[in-house]
Amino acid sequence: MVFRILLVEDEADLADFVLRGLREEGFAVELAADGPQAWAALKGSAWDLVVLDWWLPGEDGLTVLKRYRAAGGASPVLFLTARDAVGDRVRGLDAGADDYLCKPFAFDELLARIRALLRRRDKTPNLKVSYNDVSIDLAAHRAERAGRPLDLTTKELSLLSFLVRHPGQVLSRTRIYEHVWDETFDGLSNTLEVHVMELRRKLEAHGPRVIHTVRGRGYVLRAPSEEA
Ligand code: CA
Repeated sequence: MVFRILLVEDEADLADFVLRGLREEGFAVELAADGPQAWAALKGSAWDLVVLDWWLPGEDGLTVLKRYRAAGGASPVLFLTARDAVGDRVRGLDAGADDYLCKPFAFDELLARIRALLRRRDKTPNLKVSYNDVSIDLAAHRAERAGRPLDLTTKELSLLSFLVRHPGQVLSRTRIYEHVWDETFDGLSNTLEVHVMELRRKLEAHGPRVIHTVRGRGYVLRAPSEEA
């Protein structure tokens, strides 16, 4: 597979050099030359990795990075800082960067860090999902609400993660059934209702109702503050 990398860099010579080098290494690379372009590229496409310069015209890299993470962007980000200042590196990492590299850098070091990030990403798929005060760690088979652990069965966990992945959407019983039970819904079984009831009981021990019944249509996960 070809990895897609977004390179955000405003210095034309450096951008050109890195772009060519990475393409020679077999990566598919696109360039964004300022903050707004970077944001548009991040919003518009999925990237395997982002190389992000700190100092950019329009909007600095740190702001772009914070907004990207706040919007749920999960691609690994390698941050380029101009100075080897501890404060800058810490701010970059705090904002959601996965690694950083200080300018000037050797191309081989950039390449080594990119490869390391891509390897790490492949090993740790994003199995954590959350909505409001409900969060799920699928790898660890754990869920919690408002920081309190929920004792869920495997089916309840699957049901909850399906809902959490589609917040605010009315999910039909057929659709839920096919995803969670991997079976065709026969229209008669009350298995789903029983599981929803049990899941509600466990969730509502730590907060108000979030799984709502939409009569004749299915269920929707909605926070109390988003009540229609
Ligand atoms: Ca720059």
